[in-house]
Amino acid sequence: MIIPKTAEEIELMRESALIVSKTLGMLAAEVKPGVTSLHLDKLAEEFIRDHDAIPGFLGLYDFPNTLCMSPNAQVVHGIPNDTPYEEGDIISIDCGAIKNGFYGDHAYTFAVGEIAPEVEQLLKVTKESLYVGIAQFKKGNRTGDVGYAIQQHCEQHGYGVVRELVGHGLGRTMHEDPEMPNYGRRGRGKKFVEGMTVAIEPMINLGTHRIEQLKDGWTILTRDRKPSAHFEHNVALVDGKPELLSTFGYIYQALDIESDEETPFRAEALVL
Ligand code: MG
Ligand code: MG
Repeated sequence: MIIPKTAEEIELMRESALIVSKTLGMLAAEVKPGVTSLHLDKLAEEFIRDHDAIPGFLGLYDFPNTLCMSPNAQVVHGIPNDTPYEEGDIISIDCGAIKNGFYGDHAYTFAVGEIAPEVEQLLKVTKESLYVGIAQFKKGNRTGDVGYAIQQHCEQHGYGVVRELVGHGLGRTMHEDPEMPNYGRRGRGKKFVEGMTVAIEPMINLGTHRIEQLKDGWTILTRDRKPSAHFEHNVALVDGKPELLSTFGYIYQALDIESDEETPFRAEALVL
């Protein structure tokens, strides 16, 4: 059952989402060769608690850490460890936070120094597909419209769209209805309703869409061991249109990147 939020609840969800956005912005400055994901995990936990919030993943379904950190061929749900990053790695960081009883949950894939051009392209196209999907999260549409748009955008580049893991509704629990697959058919699936809040999160592989899970019971990785990218935003349906609750703006400030990608979906009131 989809749980629409009131305007007040959406503002609370924005607060939770922005704590995650700021956490990812803080981490952006720290991702470099020699750093370990366990170190970043510690920084993130402190940062979230300093903002009077609770790490959203820690202990959820018994996950052991604050961040899911998935390098290179890992798709999602990687567990932080003490392996130092190397130049040319990519690292997908997924972060959750709870404040006022509501979850924020979003993700960004970072480059560690210079990366191969084909991997750079994978990151670019995956992030584009996130916005292509968000644009379809509007009145009259259904989950299949978002999934179709993401799938088309990525498959035309020959990439694999992960099937087994999907976006989701978000609210007082981390996973609410509806499921938001990154593939689908136009006009199919659950119909969107005003006030609903979702996490849209393409997980896109350079090669095959097929995945495996490590024996740790968490880590998902590509079957062909080629790299995978993951970008996630939290979005509310307001006045029939998609409105971002999260932002990558803090990441771009930290990395000195100019971007207007969020402009069509950003709430007017948001000042970084
Ligand atoms: Mg996430
Ligand atoms: Mg999510």
